[in-house]
Amino acid sequence: MLSIVSTPIGNLTDITLRAIATLTKANAIICEDTRVTGNLIKQLQIPKKELISMHSYTSDNKIHEVIKRLKKGEHMAVVSDAGTPAISDPGFKLISQARERGISIEVIPGPSAFLAALSVSGLPANRFVYLGFPPLKKGRKKFFASIADDDRTIVYYESVHRIEKSLNELAKVLNDQPDRKVSIARELTKIHEEVIDTTVSELPEVAERITKKGEFVVVVGAT
Ligand code: SAM
Repeated sequence: MLSIVSTPIGNLTDITLRAIATLTKANAIICEDTRVTGNLIKQLQIPKKELISMHSYTSDNKIHEVIKRLKKGEHMAVVSDAGTPAISDPGFKLISQARERGISIEVIPGPSAFLAALSVSGLPANRFVYLGFPPLKKGRKKFFASIADDDRTIVYYESVHRIEKSLNELAKVLNDQPDRKVSIARELTKIHEEVIDTTVSELPEVAERITKKGEFVVVVGAT
């Protein structure tokens, strides 16, 4: 059995009861950074487990080893450093191969930063597009241009190193939609949680004064 387990995006008490029970039961936990997951397990007072690190660049051989063990009947849980596995995080390759091999899979849903940001934004959320992270170089222009062409609510992640640049790029491509609403969520569920409600026309000013620390989700409202 492979259990896909969501973990908190900041506040430890957001872990679900089912996540704790599943991590306790599993023989091994597949994770990104063994120190991060080791720490989570310790804080949740779950007995020590075998931790298997897996990243998006993990070799197919390592995935095959895990699949072999699952086939033999082991119960493994897959987590990421924070939030929901496979959502802009590793997990996709393993989950799709486990599915192809007929391994039973269950999901223990929980926190995900894009959903938290979307729900707190107050922007239309019945229909939305999730774009993950903007590409670093190739395809970056196209990424922002696609937002200008879309009348739906758009959600994307941005790193602390690029948030200022990113908000300016967004302002540029949306300059003919000055009143379009934008919500910037920072450090959700953590001590310095902040949600900035703004509009496209105000973005350059927001970009300049935004606190350049922490984790960010950008939500662009539907038109
Ligand atoms: N799988 C995760 C999920 O389900 O949310 C996302 C992993 S992705 C590598 C990490 C990005 O998620 C961060 O760079 C940031 O954009 C966003 N993020 C994660 N935690 C956040 C938080 N507490 N507040 C705001 N954004 C967050």
